[in-house]
Amino acid sequence: MTFNELNISAPILRALENKQYKTPTPIQEQAIPPALNGRDILGIAQTGTGKTAAFAIPIIQQLDEAPVRKRGIKALILTPTRELAIQIDEGFRDYGRYTKLRHTVVYGGVNQRPQVDKLRQGVDILVATPGRLLDLINQKYIRLDMVEHFVLDEADRMLDMGFIHDIKRLLPLLPIEKQTLFFSATMPLTIARLSGSILKDPVKVHVIPEASVAEQIAQHLYFVEKQQKSDLLVSLLKNELNKSVLVFSRTKHGADRIARILTQKGIDCEAIHGNKSQGARQRALSNFKARRTRVIVATDIAARGIDIANLEMVINYDMPDVAETYVHRIGRTGRAGQSGTALTFCSRDEQMMVRSIQRLTGTKLNAISA
Ligand code: AMP
Repeated sequence: MTFNELNISAPILRALENKQYKTPTPIQEQAIPPALNGRDILGIAQTGTGKTAAFAIPIIQQLDEAPVRKRGIKALILTPTRELAIQIDEGFRDYGRYTKLRHTVVYGGVNQRPQVDKLRQGVDILVATPGRLLDLINQKYIRLDMVEHFVLDEADRMLDMGFIHDIKRLLPLLPIEKQTLFFSATMPLTIARLSGSILKDPVKVHVIPEASVAEQIAQHLYFVEKQQKSDLLVSLLKNELNKSVLVFSRTKHGADRIARILTQKGIDCEAIHGNKSQGARQRALSNFKARRTRVIVATDIAARGIDIANLEMVINYDMPDVAETYVHRIGRTGRAGQSGTALTFCSRDEQMMVRSIQRLTGTKLNAISA
């Protein structure tokens, strides 16, 4: 697929050439054609997927091709943070370089004067964070009654950051007739409800599989000091003598160390990781599948090849580096409708990851004190 095939106009194609983008990303491929036709979009996508261009290109093109009208804000992009706002504004600058459209960005935490000066010169496209936008509306520097295209970016993060009331105050200020493009990395119930209340017959665009965790997997979180992790693991495994358990370690070295400790404590186990020969890995796996070994300690990469029908428990000895990995790891248990358990050890320096995981999965992890 090329950008040409997406019916993107010449000035934008030229801008994309400047940026040396060769082919559209999946979200661009899926979202640009319906958005160019004026459809509402419900996009489940994270930053890094190319979603800025996925909404900026159709907006620029539609505005650029429309008959000349009075100057005024015709597109509003609402995003939770100042950094995102600046990035998005730069996107409009780059993709709209060969059009006459004017754009600007407003966000809080800085003097509003330069922002107001820019607004006074007249803009077509406004990128904003909610708080500053409301401030400037209240001071009558901004009117939204000419908006034709509205983007709600990172909706889940907006809610996390407590912007829901601001959004609810902004929505009635927008014209009823408009195109709405709604993006969120995750789709918990609150977001689904919000999107349902503001989108009209949207085209659903999905670029990563929804981070859903099967209901039959019981998830528990242990807050535990790093030095206590091995003792906790030993005591948990001693209580679960006949279960098949997959233990995740972040590093190869760590996997070996964990396996050594378990062996010393009389728990049958094997470690698999990239430093082991293919033969040794294969042997370890077949022993595990045949339930001759109950516990396997693996790194994320080595665990990719493991497909075990009745794996009863996954233990995250170390937190994964990214939240998606958590979903992949624990998805190895609770297969085919069987129940499964996922236990996660979290030391003080790993606590940030808990929030990311909860955001991605839309569920709260149940904490147990070790
Ligand atoms: P975003 O998800 O919008 O933050 O975009 C992520 C990064 O991908 C940004 O640095 C964009 O400049 C870049 N990008 C967006 N679309 C493309 C594309 N079609 N080809 C190559 N890079 C892209």
